[in-house]
Amino acid sequence: MHFDSAPLGEMDHRGQRYPPLVDSIYGSALKDSDVQVVQRARVWAEEFVALKAESWETERRFAKDGFESAGQNQLTGLLVPASDGGEDISVLGLAHVLEEIAAVDFAIAFALVCHNNLAGAVGRKAKGRLREKFLPGLVQGSSLGAFLLTEPEVGSDAAAITVSATNDGNEWILNGEKAWVTNGTDADVLSVYAQTDSALGHRGIATFLIDADNSGVIKTPGYQLLGGHGLGANSIRFDNCRVSEESLFIPVGEGFRAAMEGIDLARVLVGAMCCGMLRTGLQTASDYVRKRFAFGGRLADLQGVRFKLADVSTDLEASRLLTYRAALTLQEGRNAAVEAAHAKKFASRVTESGLASCMQVMGANGAKRDHSLPRHLAASRLTHYVDGATEIQDVVISRSLLD
Ligand SMILES: Cc1cc2nc3c(=O)[nH]c(=O)nc-3n(C[C@H](O)[C@H](O)[C@H](O)COP(=O)(O)OP(=O)(O)OC[C@H]3O[C@@H](n4cnc5c(N)ncnc54)[C@H](O)[C@@H]3O)c2cc1C
Repeated sequence: MHFDSAPLGEMDHRGQRYPPLVDSIYGSALKDSDVQVVQRARVWAEEFVALKAESWETERRFAKDGFESAGQNQLTGLLVPASDGGEDISVLGLAHVLEEIAAVDFAIAFALVCHNNLAGAVGRKAKGRLREKFLPGLVQGSSLGAFLLTEPEVGSDAAAITVSATNDGNEWILNGEKAWVTNGTDADVLSVYAQTDSALGHRGIATFLIDADNSGVIKTPGYQLLGGHGLGANSIRFDNCRVSEESLFIPVGEGFRAAMEGIDLARVLVGAMCCGMLRTGLQTASDYVRKRFAFGGRLADLQGVRFKLADVSTDLEASRLLTYRAALTLQEGRNAAVEAAHAKKFASRVTESGLASCMQVMGANGAKRDHSLPRHLAASRLTHYVDGATEIQDVVISRSLLD
């Protein structure tokens, strides 16, 4: 392991310095190799990310040092087969990894999700020179990946994208603008969804894998947000950006399906990240109310306080059940669209409300930035938009109910 902070202390592979590693009901379904990655992620989050996360937020910058450190700790090729240098982690394992990292900071966790999903897709689908060019750097974490689907005028209705790709001999020319590019401020490799023929609708969409330093790629500075600055979201414009024929990663007609292919996994992972943040909220508030006194007794002995935290605990348990059930469904190769939608919707909602409850029982000290709850509360708002807004989860759920 590599940290530029404190060295690790002694521990066994399940990390007995820390609370029991895998306390979700499906934890026992993890392979040994998964447990080791989850443990590595937990130690890394608690010993590296915890020291840096607040500065990423206050300095409003991409967590570049976090990404580099993640690479050194083999957390950048999680979905890539071992034969290509990756960890080949299971879905359940990945969900646990993300819960552990987001328990400390959502922004770096989400940055790593976007990067790892792209590395996994390149590992599964890229061929020939494209694969040789991009896969090793993505796996090692020497290059940072980003997924460019959303546009300034197009979000939920992703089939309506307008960034254009025009064929010109043995090159393609990209024009238009992408928005909300996680990792975008510092990305090295861009996976760009573009329309090759607007008359074809979603059947005209293709995906290009390109260098971010190509001429004609123009990055805006990172967005000013209510939180989550560590994930480096920005806009990226393409101004007559010429790319070679071999940059065509997913052929015309298959780009839209490819974009949607990983969406259930992405939603499960948002659920897991919410579980991590809410878990931290509950721990922080519980520790606080045990130590704080009012009216001659501990806050922890006031029934109003106890019941508030009991409600948060119930919501956390329910989020875990929904999230890890959806993860297991995916892992078993079954359709998990509805399970993933339930998990993401529920976990986002109760994480936002639960973190507010945790901060409320801490009184005004709940609002101070000397603990992580304000950072998590802001991030919990962002979880309502990423990987399909909350209302889009309702579209999926109601369709399964009523159509
Ligand atoms: C922190 C962050 C990181 C992101 N990272 C990426 C990234 O890396 N790559 C990327 O491509 N995108 C990314 N996104 C964009 C994200 O995927 C979009 O925000 C999301 O798809 C919703 O699109 P929109 O924000 O444009 O909302 P819109 O589509 O404009 O929707 C506005 C509102 O209308 C509702 N609505 C829309 N359609 C329906 C419907 N059919 N029924 C009911 N209600 C509806 C929505 O739920 C929402 O409440 C990111 C977003 C955030 C906040």
